[in-house]
Amino acid sequence: MKYRFCTYGDPVLRQKAEIIRRIDGALKVLSVDMLKIMKERKGVGLAAQQIGQTIQICVVDIPLAIDVAVPDGPRLNPDVTLPLVMLNPVLVAKKGAQRDTEGCLSVPEIWAPVNRAAEVTVTYLDIQGVQQELHARGMLARAIQHEIDHLHGVLFVDRVSPVKKITLAGKLKRLRKEKETELGIA
Ligand SMILES: [Zn+2]
Repeated sequence: MKYRFCTYGDPVLRQKAEIIRRIDGALKVLSVDMLKIMKERKGVGLAAQQIGQTIQICVVDIPLAIDVAVPDGPRLNPDVTLPLVMLNPVLVAKKGAQRDTEGCLSVPEIWAPVNRAAEVTVTYLDIQGVQQELHARGMLARAIQHEIDHLHGVLFVDRVSPVKKITLAGKLKRLRKEKETELGIA
């Protein structure tokens, strides 16, 4: 299937994704396609809305080399098998705080510091329909929070500081205008 890669200003990025109630062949194909698209675009995660879908599915994959607290250190999340395909993910617990620069495949050319929880516990269904609970720390926790935000129509630029928001306003406005013209919704 051909997908439209959706970027800032595309209204689908603001839609809330619907809960998945049935896992079928089409959904499995979608999950494989999402993993492929994430890889091709060198992302560490991808949510349904980014390819124009509005169901609660996201994928996450971070390089093992950055799943560490210090360079060449042990993995922060040694029990987590990557990549992750998560259906209906819910953040059930958060702990601590981390602040780091974030970007998004759907918000080109913009990077900004975002505060996130340092650790999260998330429940979800895997692609076999099995209920899972996962505890994640560090970059993996950041990526999971970013993707779950997408499923609720939230972008990382919504979470930057008020001062940073002002400095990004012009760029975001331009991106939105370009997209609206492209989609014919200006
Ligand atoms: Zn994103």
